[in-house]
Amino acid sequence: MKALVIGGNFAGMTAAIELKRKLKDAVEVTLIDRNSDFLFVPSLIWVPFKRREITDITVDRRKVLAEKKVNFVLAEALSVDPEKQVVTTTKGLFNYDHLVIATGPKVDFDVAPGVRDYATYVGTPTGAMNIRKKLEEFITHPGPIVVGATQRAGCMGAAYEFLFNLEEWLRAKKIREKVDLYWVTPEPFLGHFGIEGMPLGEAMLKKFMQLFNIHYKLGVGIKEVTPYSVELTNGEVIETRFSMLMPPFKGVDFIHNSPGLHPTGNDFLEVGEDYRHLQYKNVWAAGLTVDVKPPFQQGNVPFSVPKTGYPSDETGKIVAENITRVVKGRTDLRRKAWGKIPGVCIMDAGKKEVIILSDHLFKPRKFALMIPNIFYDFSKVLLEKYFLWKIKNGYAHLP
Ligand SMILES: Cc1cc2nc3c(=O)[nH]c(=O)nc-3n(C[C@H](O)[C@H](O)[C@H](O)COP(=O)(O)OP(=O)(O)OC[C@H]3O[C@@H](n4cnc5c(N)ncnc54)[C@H](O)[C@@H]3O)c2cc1C
Repeated sequence: MKALVIGGNFAGMTAAIELKRKLKDAVEVTLIDRNSDFLFVPSLIWVPFKRREITDITVDRRKVLAEKKVNFVLAEALSVDPEKQVVTTTKGLFNYDHLVIATGPKVDFDVAPGVRDYATYVGTPTGAMNIRKKLEEFITHPGPIVVGATQRAGCMGAAYEFLFNLEEWLRAKKIREKVDLYWVTPEPFLGHFGIEGMPLGEAMLKKFMQLFNIHYKLGVGIKEVTPYSVELTNGEVIETRFSMLMPPFKGVDFIHNSPGLHPTGNDFLEVGEDYRHLQYKNVWAAGLTVDVKPPFQQGNVPFSVPKTGYPSDETGKIVAENITRVVKGRTDLRRKAWGKIPGVCIMDAGKKEVIILSDHLFKPRKFALMIPNIFYDFSKVLLEKYFLWKIKNGYAHLP
């Protein structure tokens, strides 16, 4: 049996290694990724402030996969014909019996004029290094800063993390009093995070904003970004010397260019609670590729849900388990809706942190906790070390 996994970061790496571990010689697993390195995306927020180098948070996935007997092809997947079961890549054609799509997001920089050209973005190695360079220039000409999330964004947590890390950096550089710092977000209240908030979360974030003298604008989108300003959808114009915005995510070109997959309007893939394609029973999606509908009512400015690392890893495991069951002739597949996966997240707040735990990502929840740690961000650092150790050793079965 041939399994082909497209995309090898949180979801894809887990799915590929788990498939091989479970099915052993009964499967030939091939993983295709356009990058040779695994990237621990959550630590990108530390790169602009020189707390991490890119090399600290990447792992050469070729060595790990070779040890786990998973084939690796360094190529970009261009499209798939799900009828013929063939994927076209920059390195030729690959056929499969089961296909796992774990290609993560494409960032929609065209969400509003100027976002692509004048705002910065911390979510890629190039973006994080560009911010580092811009901040070095900023020290000599400090001024107002806007940080936030645009309309339709879903990854607010990372933008909050960047905000608090930036605030801490401004103080360390002794220029904090020269900077008016603004947080702008489509959320109706602080700490909604696209999951309708957590107990005490709003109060905690309000306190942080007050403590660190950060102005905030709620329920707003971005109308336009220029080199010197950010215009909000409510008509307000904030002058800026620097801005970092989290735009919305959509599915990658590989999905867009494979209309046979029936991508949703945002090029993600609609799958069942077993992460199996609704039409093609040998096509599976894991991680950010999965289309997840916001479970809450939208206000004037729409926004989306977070598709974070823990559920990405978890859906990779579910897909591997379900393919294994199908290959063994079983029909009882593992099912877990995205919103019912536990919420496990740590929000770094600039050498402080907030630990977020809940039984379900979305409401209703039996328990939900936000635990602040104002002394240091030990847990975030520990999580990073643990995850990089896990990936380096290919221990994909671990939590
Ligand atoms: C700045 C930032 C901070 C974050 N912080 C946190 C955090 O603190 N905690 C948390 O839980 N989550 C966090 N997240 C979210 C987390 O990064 C995602 O949940 C996770 O990366 C999703 O994993 P994935 O495997 O689905 O996709 P990705 O990690 O995006 O991986 C997709 C892979 O597919 C490959 N690929 C894409 N297209 C193709 C193609 N056509 N051909 C070949 N390969 C392709 C890419 O190279 C990549 O390796 C953060 C996100 C950002 C942007």
